[in-house]
Amino acid sequence: MGSVNNAVRCGFICRLCSKIDKRVVHIYGELGRKYNLVQKIRDYLPIKIKSSDGLPLTLCVSCVQRLNRRHTLQMAIKHSTARIVSRTTVESTTGRDECNQRQQIHLSSAVQSI
Ligand SMILES: [Zn+2]
Repeated sequence: MGSVNNAVRCGFICRLCSKIDKRVVHIYGELGRKYNLVQKIRDYLPIKIKSSDGLPLTLCVSCVQRLNRRHTLQMAIKHSTARIVSRTTVESTTGRDECNQRQQIHLSSAVQSI
């Protein structure tokens, strides 16, 4: 139990999974800022982190990778949804135009036969 307390004081415990590791990333450090860890935690996890909350401010490498994969998935979903919506909009607009053209042709041929 003493090692866990030391780990908390030294900052070698992961805030997310509580794994004790020598290789950690400080959430507010250079790498933490580079990977936008605070923003990703806010966006994707149901926890709140403040630099002054007295809890560990480090993440293990595995949790950083998990957060980055989650972010990559989120961006892929966002982009594919945008693509699907734009295709659907184009197809529905094109479909309406073709339908209107067919109706006009049908009406003009009907008028000529009168
Ligand atoms: Zn972790």
